Amino acid sequence: MKKMVQAKLVSTEKIKLEKVKVPSITSDEVLIQVKVCGICGSDIHAYKGRHPFIHPPIVLGHEFSGLVSEVGSGVKAISKGEKVTVEPNVVCGECYNCLHGRYNICLNLKVIGCVGHNGAFAEYIVVPKDKVIKLPQGISWDEASLVEPAAVAVHAVKKAEQRVGDRVIILGAGPIGLLVMQVAKVSGAKEVIITDLLDYRLKKACDLGADRVVNSGRENLANLVKEDYGERIDLIYDCVGIEETVSQAIQIARKGTKILIVGVPEGKIAVNLAYVQDRELELLGSLMYVREDFTTALELIHQGKIKVRPLVSHHFTLEETDKAFQKILTMKEEVLKVLVQI
Ligand SMILES: [Zn+2]
Ligand SMILES: [Zn+2]
Repeated sequence: MKKMVQAKLVSTEKIKLEKVKVPSITSDEVLIQVKVCGICGSDIHAYKGRHPFIHPPIVLGHEFSGLVSEVGSGVKAISKGEKVTVEPNVVCGECYNCLHGRYNICLNLKVIGCVGHNGAFAEYIVVPKDKVIKLPQGISWDEASLVEPAAVAVHAVKKAEQRVGDRVIILGAGPIGLLVMQVAKVSGAKEVIITDLLDYRLKKACDLGADRVVNSGRENLANLVKEDYGERIDLIYDCVGIEETVSQAIQIARKGTKILIVGVPEGKIAVNLAYVQDRELELLGSLMYVREDFTTALELIHQGKIKVRPLVSHHFTLEETDKAFQKILTMKEEVLKVLVQI
């Protein structure tokens, strides 16, 4: 029996390498040799033991690209040797939301590398055939691993019903914030203002086309918005999801506008609900994506309309997975997207 190495989260802040059997496939599954797997904010929450739904022991990793190594007897559309990425939400197909086209919020949602299914910080992974997406020519393993977070951004902008000519504010210039920023622009935003506490992230935002960057640690965002824009902010994306940013969003939003919560909160946070009620604010959650968002993200990357390569700050090997997580946790360097090459 063939063996493989996997990097498993065994307890809080502890990832151990294990040698295990390469999993076998059923007729409707595909075995993928993983090439690159990115570390997501939600992986970091889980690593710290602070994710509301992901708990060890688990092999994390849901942002990945790889080579098809074997297909089940019932798989016709995909063949061995093809380059692919994977839409990691595994759904029941029978609940209310699945039947109404919103399977990203399936009642029985499982997510590869998060809930109910081991992930891609491993040499091989088995996935259901209908979750496999073939890559076009000319897209790199790194870029393909970033289709997943880009799909999160595409879904958020769609959910926001952003209009052409909108002026939007994005709170947080991490990988998701920088992707939402690019998708917001491609979708016709007139002006995009992005905030963060870290200058190197704001510099990256400038390079990627931000119209204005604000260091919200040094500048008072509420005053700045009041003075420079008055009522002319149409939409806010919170790509952090902590009490400070949600409060900021509620404070600066024009009456009657939407606030998209894209960042994953680590638990309960207090918000000023009186403002939400009194100002008819719409606080909307955005979770993952559906297939259409995923394929749109892949096209945007492939056509060069959104740039993902500049988001990658570090590469590690599978053996160094724990080190890679620590790199993000300690934030001693200018960390953005960290990829594990397998
Ligand atoms: Zn992710
Ligand atoms: Zn369902």
